[in-house]
Amino acid sequence: MKVTIVYDNKESKPGLEAGWGFSALIEIENTPAILFDTGADGTTLLHNMEKLGINPRDIGIVVISHTHGDHTGGLQAILEVNREAEIYIPASSRARILGRKVTAVTESIQISEKVFSTGELEGVEQSLALKTNKGIVVVVGCSHPGVSKIIDAVSRFGKVYGIIGGLHGFHNFDRLQGLSLICPCHCTQYKSEISRLFPEQHVACGTGLELEL
Ligand SMILES: [Zn+2]
Ligand SMILES: [Zn+2]
Repeated sequence: MKVTIVYDNKESKPGLEAGWGFSALIEIENTPAILFDTGADGTTLLHNMEKLGINPRDIGIVVISHTHGDHTGGLQAILEVNREAEIYIPASSRARILGRKVTAVTESIQISEKVFSTGELEGVEQSLALKTNKGIVVVVGCSHPGVSKIIDAVSRFGKVYGIIGGLHGFHNFDRLQGLSLICPCHCTQYKSEISRLFPEQHVACGTGLELEL
């Protein structure tokens, strides 16, 4: 299983573009590739994908965490080049995407063999739980429902191994104790505190980062 950051506020590889927003590609053998969020801007998203050797037509599923523009801005560009992908959006968004299989997510649901949505927490945002051999890895957009709430929600799928994505203003750092992988991206306000408190577990996020799980 591989998670590649394709859109982030920071860039980690030359030739890629950074921009305020978040998008990650989740690739698991023998299941459709999942694009989680689409960043703020389609041109940047497609540019980064091309540089990373990712064909947007190979994406089977697009999951939108929540409807803020820095997560949905690239969706149109993806849909223009990819006519097949299924879409999962939080139910509260009420978005209409014509001619597509769209699932409006309220409760927790299974998205593919090893991938589950938390469901729309606090009426705003869904996160993904990936079942890896090491435990559950949670992928978050902005964590608006709160990191603690999200970790509680994914704990039902197994022991939580790691977290990747935007943690917003989260600072209840005790909640990260016991995790083996902490990759704070995008809107995370306390990146330096997290890297200082968890030097072994912390992985610096950026566009182009590839994590083998
Ligand atoms: Zn955001
Ligand atoms: Zn947001």
